[in-house]
Amino acid sequence: MNKQHTSRVGFVSLGCPKASSDAEQILTRLRGEGYDIAPQYDGADLVIVNTCGFIDAAVEESLDAIGEALAENGKVIVTGCLGAKKDGAGRGIVEQTHPKVLAVTGPHAADEVMSAVYQHLPRPHDPFTDLVPPQGVRLTPDHYAYLKISEGCNHRCTFCIIPSLRGDLVSRPIHDVVREAETLVDAGVNELLVISQDTSAYGVDLKYRTGFVNGRPVKTRLQELCQELAQLDVWVRLHYVYPYPSVDDILPLMAEGRILPYLDVPFQHASPRILKSMKRPASAENNLERIRRWREICPELTIRSTFITGFPGETEDDFNQLLDFLGEAQIDRVGCFAYSPVEGATANVLPDAVPAELREERRQRLMEFQEDISTQRLEAKIGREIVVIVDEIDPDEGAICRSEGDAPEIDGLVIVPEGSEMEVGKFYQVRVTDCDVHDLYAEPLWAEQ
Ligand code: SF4
Repeated sequence: MNKQHTSRVGFVSLGCPKASSDAEQILTRLRGEGYDIAPQYDGADLVIVNTCGFIDAAVEESLDAIGEALAENGKVIVTGCLGAKKDGAGRGIVEQTHPKVLAVTGPHAADEVMSAVYQHLPRPHDPFTDLVPPQGVRLTPDHYAYLKISEGCNHRCTFCIIPSLRGDLVSRPIHDVVREAETLVDAGVNELLVISQDTSAYGVDLKYRTGFVNGRPVKTRLQELCQELAQLDVWVRLHYVYPYPSVDDILPLMAEGRILPYLDVPFQHASPRILKSMKRPASAENNLERIRRWREICPELTIRSTFITGFPGETEDDFNQLLDFLGEAQIDRVGCFAYSPVEGATANVLPDAVPAELREERRQRLMEFQEDISTQRLEAKIGREIVVIVDEIDPDEGAICRSEGDAPEIDGLVIVPEGSEMEVGKFYQVRVTDCDVHDLYAEPLWAEQ
């Protein structure tokens, strides 16, 4: 077949890993049906823009990307979170700003996007000329992949509009998730990053229904899913876990080295009053006690979390409770945002808004406070032998790796200056020699795992 006549689709993807996962599904469908993916607007027959609608800055960025695609190409289909966002009168924000777009869908809408593509760009005649690999088209490097286990969320945190964009929790059947994981591992993936809006809630909507994985009955529940993934013999990392008592049952798997001793738990605050006003999941739990219990079961556990400063009503006393919590919890990795009102979020009408400068000042104070904790926790690793996975080889810096305690893109690195002969995507044993605030430095021990 003459490639010049293949229909070409340009693709722009913005937003979080969940948006990337949606993008991968659409790209996989496009390639599977014989469309070519164009790296630039130029030469594309139409462009799909996968948007983010979380905070105002992301809305701006998405609207700009749509405007640019319209100016450069003219035929644009919009998908993703911003596509579902409405103004006060119920009119779509995208359609209001860019009335010339061909079609607009919300997130997780591969079928609708494909229908819009068919309408404006005929399906290529022979879908078998551009077969996709079994693991689909992925935006991540070959050696790690996101594994989305559910869509949507049953919570209604007052600062968040995701449930109104993505709907209530819908868990994927367990056989489907495990099959995707097996396919990814067969294709060379060595690290699976489990994502969702609320990973601990996996299966709640299905009442933990029993499914069948390779002919065996298995409950649709996080603990069972982790046991299945642990059998694949790759790194399995859990993101977006809430501190429910049920999470305690997963810690033994971490202690036994079957899944990574790593938990990404978005605590967001520590003052019970603010957590209540945020309507956070598990806000009534005693989080310090929970963390103590987790570390008792698995002393190697790395905890990552995010926090918000300056939420409406946050007093100096609430903020100090947050600092006290950080001091006691000794969380390894911390991200922090100054509160920013999101259009449509119920928190916008809460009384006692904190002035923007104070929100930012508290964010800085929190990060300075945490810096010492993170550094001390990294310093404790100096002299230890650890396993790392190699992300890239940099001609000047050596091997850029990550440890079991570092998720890609959000946590620190392990830099091995003498590791230029290490291979990307493989595991190696190294000895930690030094650290700074975020990263470890190590020497190779040359025993490939
Ligand atoms: S748990 Fe809260 S912050 Fe997370 S998606 Fe659900 S509503 Fe939003």
